[in-house]
Amino acid sequence: MKDKIVFGPVPSRRLGQSLGVNNIPPPKICSYSCVYCQIGRTKNFCGERQNFYPVEKVINDLRSTLTSLEERREKVDFITFVPDGEPTLDANLGREIEEIRKFTPIKIAVITNASLIWRQDVQEDLNKANLVSIKVDTAGSEEVWKKINRPAPSLDFKVILEGIKKFADGFKGTLLTETLLVKDVNDDEGDIRKTAGFLSFIKPAVAFIGIATRPPAEKWVIPPDEEKVNRAYHIFAQAGLTVELITGAGDKSGFGFTGNVENDLLNIVSVHPMSREQVEGFLKKAGASWKVVEQMLKENKIKEIDYRNQKYYLKNFTCR
Ligand code: SF4
Repeated sequence: MKDKIVFGPVPSRRLGQSLGVNNIPPPKICSYSCVYCQIGRTKNFCGERQNFYPVEKVINDLRSTLTSLEERREKVDFITFVPDGEPTLDANLGREIEEIRKFTPIKIAVITNASLIWRQDVQEDLNKANLVSIKVDTAGSEEVWKKINRPAPSLDFKVILEGIKKFADGFKGTLLTETLLVKDVNDDEGDIRKTAGFLSFIKPAVAFIGIATRPPAEKWVIPPDEEKVNRAYHIFAQAGLTVELITGAGDKSGFGFTGNVENDLLNIVSVHPMSREQVEGFLKKAGASWKVVEQMLKENKIKEIDYRNQKYYLKNFTCR
């Protein structure tokens, strides 16, 4: 087999320099067929765990990549299971994590759609990771779940939500959640409130809200407008969640300050909508005037939104 199992490292806002492990063979094998999936529709649907690659192959590929990265003095912050498909479908995931632990202290992350998290063996495997990021596009409605994630027929919405709660209760590492919003599918206020309520129960370190930033599986998929994303942000924050947006720009920049006022402001508002007061404070610190904002509004780089009698500024999603 000549499949490329290890890729990167790629810069990630959530994980720093992340070395990817693609433990699911191509083409994509997944338990979901999300309407926004950047890999296209799922042709190989699978709701059961399987043996894909021999554990030794995954480990050998990873070990040799790490050796050459070390020689080039390239930094790796996380080894991340983020395949073309669902990583927990790999029946050897737990063993692979155990084997990695034997030869490197680098932290291990798994990015999962959580569809199999109700299984004891999957929970045991995920418990071995330092960081687990789970997909919760909706916790409010089975109908919405079916519409956005298009799950394998064997999966059960309530069982998955219960499994997430159980896992979150026992997991000792860092738990993140990701909720991707699609216009007119899961951006309804009532649904978002229910999802926020559920997430506040499982207490992730950060609840990310994303939009599709790459070409989706279905052409009709578009992000909600900025007003709705801003509203979702505030509903999550009011539920006591630490929330960040993933909207494209700024996601890979490490959110650092470059000294370029416009770039720095764009990086911030692509993650956190800022009130007028916050923007004024930022500009004051940077020794810049409100003209920067006026120019960015004129160039459609950011949007001004009214929310609860306050003006907020966030990235214009249509402007990449
Ligand atoms: S869970 Fe991930 S890989 Fe699977 S269909 Fe959804 S977005 Fe694509």
